[in-house]
Formats: sequence, C-alpha cells, structure tokens
Amino acid sequence: MENFDIVIIGAGVVGLAVACELSQSSVNKNILVLEKADSFGGETSSRNSEVIHGGMYYPSGTLKVSLCVKGRRLLYEICAKQNIPCRKTGKLIIAVEKEELPVLDGIRRQGELNGVEGLRMITGGELKKIEPNLNGIAALFSEETGIIDSHRLMEYFLQNARGKGAMVAYGSEATGITKSESGYKISVNNNNEALEIKSTIVINSAGLDSDTVAGSAGIDLKKNKYELHYCKGQYFRVTSGKAKLLNRLAYPVPKPKSAGLGVHATLDLGGGLRFGPDDKYLNNRIKDYSVDESKKREFYSSAVKFMPFIKEEDLSPDSAGIRPKLQGESGEFRDFVIQEESDKGLPGFINLIGIESPGLTASPAIAKYLKGLLR
Ligand SMILES: Cc1cc2nc3c(=O)[nH]c(=O)nc-3n(C[C@H](O)[C@H](O)[C@H](O)COP(=O)(O)OP(=O)(O)OC[C@H]3O[C@@H](n4cnc5c(N)ncnc54)[C@H](O)[C@@H]3O)c2cc1C
Repeated sequence: MENFDIVIIGAGVVGLAVACELSQSSVNKNILVLEKADSFGGETSSRNSEVIHGGMYYPSGTLKVSLCVKGRRLLYEICAKQNIPCRKTGKLIIAVEKEELPVLDGIRRQGELNGVEGLRMITGGELKKIEPNLNGIAALFSEETGIIDSHRLMEYFLQNARGKGAMVAYGSEATGITKSESGYKISVNNNNEALEIKSTIVINSAGLDSDTVAGSAGIDLKKNKYELHYCKGQYFRVTSGKAKLLNRLAYPVPKPKSAGLGVHATLDLGGGLRFGPDDKYLNNRIKDYSVDESKKREFYSSAVKFMPFIKEEDLSPDSAGIRPKLQGESGEFRDFVIQEESDKGLPGFINLIGIESPGLTASPAIAKYLKGLLR
C-alpha cells in the first residue's frame, strides 16, 4: 500500500491551489491529488463567470469575506508575476428603480465594513458618461472587480505543485476513507481497479461531491449541517457583436434572499459577453449542464432593464454550472466550511464544503488558510 503525507481529493481550482501552497513547504513533500476525471478542473472550476470578486455582498466576519478580499489581492499579484491573463474591468451594480436605492446603499455599506477598496456610488448622469449604453438611475462602482482566465490559473497551480514534487492521479475516485492508527486508509477506484492508499492528512476538496466524501469518512452530514444542495446557473451568450458596447461588468441590484447575484453581464477575456447565471435549485443530484433555451425571454427581460441595446434574438444558450450550496432554497446565509475534524475524532482530516462563489477568487487565500489549520 502506497503511503503519502497528504492526499487531496479533487483537482478543481481549490484542490490545485492547496496542492500548490502545501508543496512549497519543506515538511510535507509526499503529496498526491486524486481526481476522478481524466483532467483537472472539469466541473465547477470551468463552469463559472471567471470574475475576480470584490467581496461586498457577504456578511462581515465570515470566511467568504476574508478569503475573497485576500484571494482577490493574491490573484492580481499571481497574474502579474506569472503572466496569467486577467483584467481589472471594474463592475457596476445598477439600480433602475427608486426602490432599489436603499439596497444598493446597503451593499456599499457592507462592502466598506468588509474592507473592500475602491467602492463608490455614482449618479445616473455619471453612469451615462462612463457607460453610455447602459440604463440606470444610480450605480455602485467597484474598481477592484475583474476577470481572469481560470484555466491558466489552474495550470499555474498544477505546474507549480508538480514542480515541487506533488503528484496528480487522474481517473482516480476516492470511494471510502477509514481512520487508521497513523492516519487514513483511502479506497480508490483507479480506472475501474480497486486499490488502497494511506495518508497522514486527507483534504476533501471534492466540490459538488464534498459532502459525500465527508460522509464516506463516517461524518454525520445531517447533524453537522454538511449536506449540499445543487443550485444550477445557466448562461446565454450575446452573439451579435454587441459586447463592445459595454466596458465593465454590469449587475442588477440583487433581490433579497436570492441564491445568486441576479442575471448579470460578464465580459470575458476573449472579448465576448454573457448573461447569467440564473439560479434554480435542483431536486436531484444529477449534474445536468444543459441550457434550457425556453429561458431566453426571462434572460432578455432581466438584461434589457439596464442594457436597452439588447434584443432577444441577440441571445443564444451558452453553458451552465452548478453551485455546491450549503444554504437550502430560501434558507439562511451559510459560510464556507473549512474545517479540521479533530473534534469528530478525525485529526488531520480537513473538509472544504460549500465552496461556491467566490471560491475561484478566494482559492489562493483558502490554500493559505488551510496551511494555517495544518500548523
Ligand atoms: C454558475 C457559477 C458561477 C460562478 N462564478 C464565480 C465567479 O465569477 N467568481 C468566483 O470567484 N467564483 C465563482 N463561482 C464559484 C467557483 O466556480 C467555485 O467556488 C470553484 O470553482 C470551486 O472549486 P473546487 O475546486 O472547490 O470545486 P470543483 O471545481 O468542483 O472541483 C472538485 C473536483 O473534485 C473532483 N472529485 C469529486 N469527487 C471526487 C472523488 N470522490 N474522488 C476524486 N475526485 C473527486 C471533481 O471531479 C472535480 O474536478 C461560480 C460557480 C458557479 C456554479
């Protein structure tokens, strides 16, 4: 049976960031990343908006805030040093009705409490000057928000981890975890062959399956409130060359208690423009990434409120992602779970559960936080 110091389950952006961070230390040299798919980042990490978030929406004192703000600063540094494509586009949250103004001001105040730099309210007139094609009576401008090539970021984490000796096993699904005297035995389905490995430390970064993996180590998911809900987000692409009519990311004012930030306009680094994601809780755990074309009208109606130049026929179904949410439908806010499980009799077992947005932004900060937990 092969022995490792650290096994990380899941090669999404978070698992790879963790592998990259931990492999830099001289202590834990023997690191293995298990990934059930044939390559890295094929699930949520390549099915998102690729936005580097500011950090103004989440309640103060949460991991979502601290890791988003730190992660954003780290990402811009990493991108500059490693030539990873990114652009500080800035973002506008746009009010189109008077009733939205107090909500918008609430986001500004929350952002300031959260230590988000470069936030300011602008009038409808100022909005017209900087984005002549948008409609709105006021907006909150976030200077620090941007976009990133998430694939290149994952490649960087992976190469850097491998460069320091970490290994990645593709086609390798962790199917069971048992506590042993000096660590853990992990059952692995390696391309339909069953094998067992041992590790002193196990890090569960399995995204949409992270609750299942925690359960396979004997953790009571219900009692610990670790059960995930799948919440799908679909995108429509603007195919009519109108992307150049927008210079910044443009978001509506979110509705209270909604699962997402509202259907927004995101630019990508290739010069494209997408609307989305919407939010729909799924009743089952099927990873269905199809886009429902009949939603086109709804997307158009949301978009046209602040982007009057959009026509319904400009939109085509694009892609979808699924949020691994701890918060149930119309439930209360839930923070990321990043937990060392000694109190459950599992020392050296670390769960990362509910790493939904802003998980991409937070990824390098999550890795540093986790390193702190291991100390
Ligand atoms: C629609 C949408 C939009 C988003 N937009 C943004 C955004 O703009 N900005 C932002 O910061 N965040 C955004 N996010 C959130 C962000 O994408 C996620 O937080 C991040 O990608 C999570 O990465 P991860 O590594 O935890 O999970 P994943 O990318 O899901 O990786 C988990 C990996 O684990 C593997 N795995 C699962 N089970 C096992 C097992 N038993 N054995 C081995 N391998 C296993 C999977 O195959 C997968 O590759 C968005 C998310 C969604 C859904």
